Amino acid sequence: KAHHSHEPEFLQAVKEIIYSLTPVFAKRPEYMQASLLERIVEPERVVKFRVSWVDESGKVQVNRGYRVQYSSAIGPYKGGLRFHPSVNESIIKFLGFEQIFKNSLTGQPIGGAKGGSDFDPKGKSDAEIMRFCQAFMTELHKYIGPDVDVPAGDIGVGAREIGFLFGQYNRIRGAYEAGVITGKLPRFGGSLARKEATGYGTVYFVQEMLKEIDMTFQDTNVIVSGSGNVSVYAIEKAQQLGAKVVACSDSNGYIFDPTGINLDTVKQIKEVEHGRIKEYVERHPGATYTDGCSGIWSIPCDIALPCATQNEIDEESAKVLVANGVKVIGEGANMPSTLQAIKVYFDNNILFAPAKAANAGGVAVSALEMSQNSMRHFWSFEEVDEKLHEIMKSIYKNSVDAAKEFGYEGNLLIGANIAGFLKVADAMVAQGVI
Ligand code: NDP
Repeated sequence: KAHHSHEPEFLQAVKEIIYSLTPVFAKRPEYMQASLLERIVEPERVVKFRVSWVDESGKVQVNRGYRVQYSSAIGPYKGGLRFHPSVNESIIKFLGFEQIFKNSLTGQPIGGAKGGSDFDPKGKSDAEIMRFCQAFMTELHKYIGPDVDVPAGDIGVGAREIGFLFGQYNRIRGAYEAGVITGKLPRFGGSLARKEATGYGTVYFVQEMLKEIDMTFQDTNVIVSGSGNVSVYAIEKAQQLGAKVVACSDSNGYIFDPTGINLDTVKQIKEVEHGRIKEYVERHPGATYTDGCSGIWSIPCDIALPCATQNEIDEESAKVLVANGVKVIGEGANMPSTLQAIKVYFDNNILFAPAKAANAGGVAVSALEMSQNSMRHFWSFEEVDEKLHEIMKSIYKNSVDAAKEFGYEGNLLIGANIAGFLKVADAMVAQGVI
């Protein structure tokens, strides 16, 4: 632990897994003998590189790029790229580590990885974004490939960036290799329903949980933090299922619309104009905007879907949510709840859908995109959505069953971690000491 004191996010993710896997190691001493825990926390490979690019004024800018190839025990490395000024090795390692278990849970043959850069896309022109993506891929291309490592999007990396990254990879390789990256636009090899998949999947997962308490989304009040890729499609699916989504946010603040968020306006501001969420209130005067992000959790709701970033719900926010009567927390973002916040959920019997299970829909459809690229065949939106729905149901069931088998009935955090771990662990044992 002392070696990693400078990597708090990574330590937090590892701590959660070690706690969850204690009952597994107690029952399976052969895993202990094979030092599986010690092996799995160590990435197979970490690549760090310089990314130099020229801004609009002609000045050379320098950023740092990362790719952490964590585990290839059950398939090629797979995981998104994050472009955000907060990116550092600790954050990429925590995300890559979690990705191993999440990818395993999807039932698809994909290993775990993550990457990104401390580049800040905010306020950059399209041409600057393109030059950065080209410089980034000029280095990254050495380490990836359709059967080796397949990146995708994450915070700050959407369809525009994926297009630039894909174009540069193909230019360097002198060939069109569709399966090297996922999240592509459908017109050049992307899967329909990929951009919706994480948000929709989170809502499908919560829908399964609600059945346990004879509830549906119909007429519930829902809060969704963020207003990016995951948030927008979580809002869309929740609204389709009859929920009233009353609030969403960005990194500057949140909006509250008591009549229910108008999603077309949010999409226009965030996806088309790349603007700020506060502009919403100019178009809907009945809504209010408040500076700062954490206040969003003080709005009373039945269901809270944190879909923005890590550690956005701390102990205090969790207590406020509970006091206001929240029944379900569904994590669309990665590690959005601190360990203390999770304890508050469990102490108060709140239904809790942990990120690794609840937001696995995005990478699951990315794996379906890889399959379609290999087959040179495309499924319709409805076909992909149907497969996504089935995958989310089966992740839910497998998490419930694993929790029960190991004596933690009803604890999906432990259940999801165990279910994700077992497949990877058995593959590692079967492949010997590598
Ligand atoms: P986007 O960049 O599309 O959106 C992120 C959103 O969160 C933006 O609205 C951003 O605001 C907001 N945000 C960032 N920091 C904060 C903060 N501190 N408080 C409130 N809002 C904040 O990213 P994604 O939607 O792709 O990713 C969101 C989360 O979901 C991440 O944790 C990611 O790892 C996870 N995830 C994403 C998947 C995907 O398929 N995209 C798959 C699985 C998990 P602003 O515009 O101001 O930056």
